[in-house]
Amino acid sequence: MKVPANIFAADAIHTKGWWGAHRWLVLRRITQLSILALFLLGPWFGWWLVKGNLNYSLTLGTLPLADPLVMLQSLVSGHIPERNAIIGVTIVLLFYLLVGGRSYCAWVCPMNIVTDAASALRRKLDIRGGGDMPRQTRYWILALILIWAATTGGIVWELVNPVSLLPRGLIFGMGAGWMLIAGIFLFDLFVMKRGWCGHLCPVGAFYSLLGRWSLVRVSATKREDCNNCLDCFVACPEQQVIRMPLKGASKGASPMIVSSNCTNCGRCIDVCAKDVFTFVPRLAHSDLPSPSADIQPPHA
Ligand code: SF4
Ligand code: SF4
Repeated sequence: MKVPANIFAADAIHTKGWWGAHRWLVLRRITQLSILALFLLGPWFGWWLVKGNLNYSLTLGTLPLADPLVMLQSLVSGHIPERNAIIGVTIVLLFYLLVGGRSYCAWVCPMNIVTDAASALRRKLDIRGGGDMPRQTRYWILALILIWAATTGGIVWELVNPVSLLPRGLIFGMGAGWMLIAGIFLFDLFVMKRGWCGHLCPVGAFYSLLGRWSLVRVSATKREDCNNCLDCFVACPEQQVIRMPLKGASKGASPMIVSSNCTNCGRCIDVCAKDVFTFVPRLAHSDLPSPSADIQPPHA
């Protein structure tokens, strides 16, 4: 397939075809939109396969699922959760401990569609530079919302949490919530690359803590084939996680991406014309380093 060079990941599209260069992206979008649709079917059409929202839901009247961060806020604010909520949180915790906490960001969170769109538009408009702040800021915000819950005795954060606001707004009407969602989009577009998800969102920060030892990982298994096109760095929402696994062979670094901030989105797999990256089970490499601090990437 002849692909204009100014199209992002032109090499990958040329080598693997459009589907090969977008497979994980398309599968993610289908998953995110399907989950959103399940929540909307009841309120919109009266088909109550799933009742509730991302914070707490009951599927087919039997399977409870509950968000562990909401549960944590509830606990610190002094509320004892009900039995179904405890079962729901346990199921969700076990799932993300296995597949990687930030898989939530790439495969479930509806805000990811908004921030990915801002990132794609930023790339298309060739907007460079902008503000910067430590990526650890999100962990401080996470601590703050827990303190907020403890001191107010309520889960106040969920009133303004854009991750909850977006699906809730689609059901009940967004009101001023659209301004928050649009603000995040514009912030990511003009002010800071991957500003919300990569630096500020406490939900992503919380889920990253669940992913430190997860079994599903991405590995730069064929890193010796890398031709330094840097498309993976450009596509990756957390590009600091790639550098050592891809470029650290001479330092004895494992090719496996062990940073808990990798969202298992699979975009690096999609856009690599050399098929350097692949999903692997964590035990595929016995030489795992500890999941330590992320390494800063080159300015791609
Ligand atoms: S970082 Fe936050 S808003 Fe972004 S995808 Fe993850 S949970 Fe959603
Ligand atoms: S390393 Fe790959 S799978 Fe992980 S966040 Fe980056 S692009 Fe996604």
